[in-house]
Amino acid sequence: MAAKNRIFIVLLGPPGSGKGTQARILEKQLGLPQVATGDLFRFNLKHQTELGLLAKKYMDAGELVPDEVTIRMVEERLSREDCAQGAILDGFPRNLPQAVALDEMLAPYGGVTIVPLFVVEDDVVVERISGRRVCRNCGAVYHVRFNPPKHDNICDVCGGELYQRDDDRPETVKNRLYVYYKQTGPLIGYYFAKGLLEEIDASKAVNEVTEALKAVLAARGVAIPEA
Ligand code: ADP
Ligand code: AMP
Repeated sequence: MAAKNRIFIVLLGPPGSGKGTQARILEKQLGLPQVATGDLFRFNLKHQTELGLLAKKYMDAGELVPDEVTIRMVEERLSREDCAQGAILDGFPRNLPQAVALDEMLAPYGGVTIVPLFVVEDDVVVERISGRRVCRNCGAVYHVRFNPPKHDNICDVCGGELYQRDDDRPETVKNRLYVYYKQTGPLIGYYFAKGLLEEIDASKAVNEVTEALKAVLAARGVAIPEA
């Protein structure tokens, strides 16, 4: 792998806080790929790989997929050519062992650059998750009220069919939130102590959250060219 000081943005926040939505916007503007572990598991499941079938059991229960397979998957993904300048990590790390593993992976490249923390109330994320729809084909994310597609159940980007994720059912959402507070919560202190954490008010509209993200990125020297 090439030079030091790549840009690695870790988007931290509860499920449904808008990380994927912002990652997709930033990836276009920054030219860095979104690396979303949830998307990688769903891709594997769609193709019925061994990893996908293993992950399904945990995803259906709203639990974390075991660290060993998750870390290996991320390591492989970050070693690909499109991550030569860095990446936007969405949904990883999700616990302390994963954060430590990520630090080790990124040590040759200057480590994690910044960790925007998506701050938003539980009732807002529950409302966002319950209306979330995802494209079966390209993974684009919509919301039935806040970000509806132009045509019902059809993806604006690729014309694919939209569906509701199995784990977006209310029973699973409750556990996913619990797992977030219990296992991912400690990462807030971990990254705060490293001086990398930047709180973002994620309850605002999509474009306002994007502007807030751009401001904290710019303050750390990650400039985004004007569109
Ligand atoms: P995460 O990746 O954190 O799980 P998503 O980006 O998938 O969250 O967003 C969850 C749901 O909320 C989606 O349906 C998305 O369209 C919607 N959403 C994302 N950001 C906002 C926002 N700022 N305001 C309203 N709805 C949003
Ligand atoms: P997400 O798409 O980020 O909401 O993730 C969906 C599900 O995938 C989670 O509830 C977990 O079961 C699994 N998952 C995603 N990322 C990770 C991770 N970093 N570690 C373990 N499991 C994960």
